[in-house]
Amino acid sequence: MLTVSEALTAILGEVHPFATTRVPLSEALGLVIADDVISDVDSPPFDKALMDGFAVLAADVAEGRATLRVIEEVAAGRVPSQSVSSGDAMRIMTGAPIPKGADAVVRLEETEFDGKSSTIWISAQPVSPGVNLMHRGTTLKRGESVFRAGRVLRPQELGVLAEVGKYEVPARCRPRIAVLATGDELVPVCETPGPGQIRNSNEIMLAAQIRRAGAEPQLLGIARDERSHLRERIHTGLDCDMLLLSGGVSAGKLDLVPSELEAAGVRRIFHKVQVKPGKPIWFGILEPQEDRSSRCYVFGLPGNPVSSLVCFELFARTAIHRLMGYPRPEPQPIRARLAETHIARSDRPTYHPAQLNWEAGGPVVRPVNWHGSSDLRATVDANAMALFPAGDQTFEPGETVEVIEWGSGMGEEPTTPSP
Ligand code: AMP
Ligand code: MG
Repeated sequence: MLTVSEALTAILGEVHPFATTRVPLSEALGLVIADDVISDVDSPPFDKALMDGFAVLAADVAEGRATLRVIEEVAAGRVPSQSVSSGDAMRIMTGAPIPKGADAVVRLEETEFDGKSSTIWISAQPVSPGVNLMHRGTTLKRGESVFRAGRVLRPQELGVLAEVGKYEVPARCRPRIAVLATGDELVPVCETPGPGQIRNSNEIMLAAQIRRAGAEPQLLGIARDERSHLRERIHTGLDCDMLLLSGGVSAGKLDLVPSELEAAGVRRIFHKVQVKPGKPIWFGILEPQEDRSSRCYVFGLPGNPVSSLVCFELFARTAIHRLMGYPRPEPQPIRARLAETHIARSDRPTYHPAQLNWEAGGPVVRPVNWHGSSDLRATVDANAMALFPAGDQTFEPGETVEVIEWGSGMGEEPTTPSP
């Protein structure tokens, strides 16, 4: 049986990033940019006013008091037609270009303006050159690198790309990921379960994890624990870039998923990992065939909801981020101090749902009260999972353990973005 780190190495060795295409900027949230970005403009593109007020010569207002003649008014989007000389002021709005000759802006609140005689009286702090304006190219120069290839695009990266005119970006596209729940006991969420039945809660959870990882879910509903029905649904799912099945991968008589996947031509890479929860996880690959041009990566996730949740975060997310070209697709653990005593007792390394908080002395983790792989309720009190090694061990408060944060938002890495 593979360890978690061997399973992750197998995934990274087998899953290859998509080829780069051009993606409209409006669809690029959470994707990874594949080229360095060079600015085609200075930002700001001209010396610009940062306040509503009057553009002046700082020397005229060095003492903070002056009476000046208003020669023109310039709004954002317009350009001044005159230059400002000593004794002049130009009414200016935030974002408008500073007229030639002027080298400071006096805020409106520090002036009294007589509209009739075009005279302003200024009573301000002493004004020095450069006040309330920003020089051309201060934040970004034309030809300068904005950020490098490999950056995950968050809203602020999209905004900067828009500023430098990249209406399309070179990126690897969003993987399409099929979700297929299996189990005769499952009913759709909108139904009231009958005797022996439960609602299909994994589908919506996996779809949300897929979205949060930056990919596109495609929901295939529920497959019965019956070969021909399962086979037909698996067939549909294999058209996507990845297929996530939930349930049916353990050793039970009706756990048909591994054999049906192999019958469909999916090559097994591993089955079972030394991990709790999630030991029965299955991973394989369908190679391109006559009727399909690209690979399909397949995960059989255990049906217990926390197993499914944890296995997605450890393994499926790594494969998705690898396809998308993330520079660090695998989980990025941090070390955190335990807030309280924790008794760990298991034959396998355990990812225990936990609360991670940033306190004065650094990250602190509190494992939540958890009843194991079917206790999904406990995970709503958690934002991370704390790793406890196999064995029978008592951890004391203040001891450090590895913690993996659960994704923080669509396409975002939970930790700091890459350089
Ligand atoms: P399995 O992996 O099929 O043996 O299922 C393990 C446990 O997870 C059983 O108690 C199932 O009822 C439950 N389970 C399986 N699939 C789902 C699902 N889609 N939503 C919620 N629970 C599930
Ligand atoms: Mg089942």
